[in-house]
Amino acid sequence: MTDFAREEDFRSWGNVVQAAHAVARPFWRDQLTATVSTGRQQGLALLATGLRRSYGDSVLNPAGGMIDMTGLDRIIAFDPDRRLLRAEAGLPLHTLLDLLVRRGFFPPVTPGTRYVTLGGAVANDVHGKNHHVNGTFGRWVRLLGLLRSNGEELQLSPTEHPDLFAATIGGLGLTGLITWVELELTPIDSASMDVENIPFDGVDGFFALARESEGNFDYTVSWIDCLAAGPSLGRGIFSRANHSESGSPLPDRGNTRFSMPLDAPQFAMNRHTINAFNAAYFRNGKRKSGPARVGIHPFFYPLDSIGRWNRLYGKKGMYQYQSVVPPSVQYDATKEMLAAISASGQGSFLAVLKTFGDELSPGLLSFPMEGTTLALDFPNRGEETLRLMARLDEIVLAAGGRLYPAKDGRMPARLFQAGYPAWQAFSKHVDSGFSSLFWQRVSQM
Ligand SMILES: Cc1cc2nc3c(=O)[nH]c(=O)nc-3n(C[C@H](O)[C@H](O)[C@H](O)COP(=O)(O)OP(=O)(O)OC[C@H]3O[C@@H](n4cnc5c(N)ncnc54)[C@H](O)[C@@H]3O)c2cc1C
Repeated sequence: MTDFAREEDFRSWGNVVQAAHAVARPFWRDQLTATVSTGRQQGLALLATGLRRSYGDSVLNPAGGMIDMTGLDRIIAFDPDRRLLRAEAGLPLHTLLDLLVRRGFFPPVTPGTRYVTLGGAVANDVHGKNHHVNGTFGRWVRLLGLLRSNGEELQLSPTEHPDLFAATIGGLGLTGLITWVELELTPIDSASMDVENIPFDGVDGFFALARESEGNFDYTVSWIDCLAAGPSLGRGIFSRANHSESGSPLPDRGNTRFSMPLDAPQFAMNRHTINAFNAAYFRNGKRKSGPARVGIHPFFYPLDSIGRWNRLYGKKGMYQYQSVVPPSVQYDATKEMLAAISASGQGSFLAVLKTFGDELSPGLLSFPMEGTTLALDFPNRGEETLRLMARLDEIVLAAGGRLYPAKDGRMPARLFQAGYPAWQAFSKHVDSGFSSLFWQRVSQM
């Protein structure tokens, strides 16, 4: 378990890079020091992995050694009176939800999939639909354990080793191995969500709904039709929701209804199929708009109902592009990006627009900042797709925005360094025994 074995086809969620990796799979906390030391003796630069729901190369390290943390998934302590949970870093959110929701608690922040580990959520300082209320995941981490490649075991918090804590939250796994996490939970009254879905006709409609909703709704997000053009540019469905005060106490099961057995043929994802899907989805959303009470899973994790949906993009995989731009330019920059995407005819069903609030993120490299975030999947069509993303990069750069490393597999070093001015302060905390393909690319001067 502490040895590294070669795995030929080790991928992240986007499937663009398919490379062999040396992987160790420890199961117990007391095996971690031996695992790290074995890797170092073999001259491997290390990196932890959780459930590999990151899209690009921040969770790849072909020349080094990966430590798969998913075997470390035990709860260490739970104190309902203080709303604190301590667990091993490989614990997945889906297991946590099974335990917490029926006891009247919810994670303070959840991303759009429940297949993420606590360690992965910390290392990417993930955000959710309630960013305007709760900020990022890292704001709720009270303590964590970190193992450095020299064998040193540290306990970090906003007051114990605060600088290393700030580097580790959103630190992309580069400061060492997160071994356990203590998290403050959110109390909830029921396992149901009161949701309202409201269609809007364009970018103006989105911003008007965001302004109107943020004071009264804990969760807001919208799906957009990224191929709509002209007066419909940026049309979509805005969802806003609160935990219901009187819904069912027991969570819905959140079953996976269907799993992609194989990679879909490349032609399945073309302009015409995507356009037809988006138009039908928008019409359907319009018909079904209004208030509804739904379970936690369909509201937070609709994509998890299709197992391995990333295979829909075929063998060449896909890129995700997630940007955030500041409030002063959010309207123009969002419109400009949507116009460029629509004109290119590239895009997918998965396009999300959301405003981030002004809660400060605790990590030196945390992605969220106040403004508007746009996230889209692009089937990998080689040069054509890279050209479109380079055009979007220019808009983000001019707007003073940044891209999300968890979703990225190609951003140029100059965009990373401009978007993350604290990157050099961060690099002083990088453990010299750890590395990733992402870091090798973006930290070049
Ligand atoms: C359908 C879908 C929806 C998503 N929605 C959102 C969203 O709404 N908001 C959002 O923020 N993200 C979102 N994501 C991205 C996802 O939440 C993050 O990539 C998350 O970090 C993945 O967790 P993981 O356990 O799979 O980590 P991995 O992808 O395996 O690893 C992520 C990073 O964490 C590091 N890491 C993992 N475990 C440890 C550890 N124990 N110690 C040190 N470093 C570690 C890795 O080295 C890597 O840098 C989404 C992804 C998908 C597929």
